[in-house]
Amino acid sequence: MSKDKLTVIHIDMDAFFAAIEQQANPELRDKPVIVCGDPDGRGVVATASYEARAFGVHSAMPVREAKRRCPQAIFVRGRHSYYSKISNLLLEVYRKYTPEVEPFSIDEAFLDVKGCERLHGGACEIAGKIKVEVREALGLTCSVGIAPNKLLAKMASDMNKPDGLTIIRAEDVESTIWPLPVRKLYGVGKKTSQALESLGIKTAGAIARMPVELLIAKFGESGRLIHNLACGIDNSRVDSGIWDIPKSIGHETTLTEDSSDEDVMLRHILSLSQQVGRRLRQQELVARTVTLKLRYSDFTTLTRANTFSFFTCLDQDIYEASKKLLFSNWIRPRKIRLVGVTVTSLSSKDDFTRQLALFEQDEKRRHVTAAMDRVRDRFGENAITRASLIKPGEKIKTKGTAHDKGRREGHGKGSVGI
Ligand SMILES: [Mg+2]
Repeated sequence: MSKDKLTVIHIDMDAFFAAIEQQANPELRDKPVIVCGDPDGRGVVATASYEARAFGVHSAMPVREAKRRCPQAIFVRGRHSYYSKISNLLLEVYRKYTPEVEPFSIDEAFLDVKGCERLHGGACEIAGKIKVEVREALGLTCSVGIAPNKLLAKMASDMNKPDGLTIIRAEDVESTIWPLPVRKLYGVGKKTSQALESLGIKTAGAIARMPVELLIAKFGESGRLIHNLACGIDNSRVDSGIWDIPKSIGHETTLTEDSSDEDVMLRHILSLSQQVGRRLRQQELVARTVTLKLRYSDFTTLTRANTFSFFTCLDQDIYEASKKLLFSNWIRPRKIRLVGVTVTSLSSKDDFTRQLALFEQDEKRRHVTAAMDRVRDRFGENAITRASLIKPGEKIKTKGTAHDKGRREGHGKGSVGI
């Protein structure tokens, strides 16, 4: 069965940002290094080196807490564009071995090496060569998983970090995956694992041995996905065409009158978030980064972004992120003349890795959003809106532009009207 052949490689860089900094500055090597937004601020840890992890520091931990746990750590302000450059160099290395490379995040990628044997050897040989090349060219280590599919490759790369190389064959699922607690299954988040545990389902094996109908009865269609995860089944393909997905979807509005009114701003942001969310769902995409653009009345412009730990296509998530960005960046009482909401880090909703992330979201929100979409499909875009968008007796007229920087869609036009 060719399906069971080891053809998929998942590569995950070890402590990526911290390792890059250690490589760039020899004084940081072998020392606890913590990369974060603002070393003196209230942000969170982006990446901790393995030396810092030994003190219990991990990513997403508040910087203040990291300082408490590891006062001797060297805090470094992250340089995202530099990390992106290194990330692109890594992709170039991978593409020497196979054209089928799917960037998964800034420090992870899937490779399909089917048909590359004659030129480069089997998956294990290719993975070994890549590890050597990455180390020699960039001074970085990575952990590699090799498996018949993306799901298992992804789980394998996580099993021996750092600098690991782990193989999971189809016949290894029972011995390697089934003993894992449910929360260790890739894609199963806190909500799902709690729900499973409350049913007495504690391991992946317990899920796999359950009749799938029972899981469907409990979790809907996601039940089947959970069952597949536990069985190591994944039919999604390595998608090297990922860059065909638009790079961003955004809308912006020029206010008819410059404003410093909080309510006015919030209503614009909500409306923009709804339009952006709607287009994400129409194109069956999900996004991970929300960017807010503000232009003051003197034309100074700022853009600030926030990246979720999950993918979303829900208006509410986009709105809440934009709102947070507004309040943390708006220098009041300065008047604003233009506001924009854009989502980036887009991905196809179909990918198995995103599906459960959607499931993890508040179910009520999903249902409300789906219901609103159905009404709009039938009666038009302005048929329904959230109550807080409408203030009795008030009329705000706005001109708006909408644009797609992506390749798949042409120049979108959309006037924003409330
Ligand atoms: Mg990593």
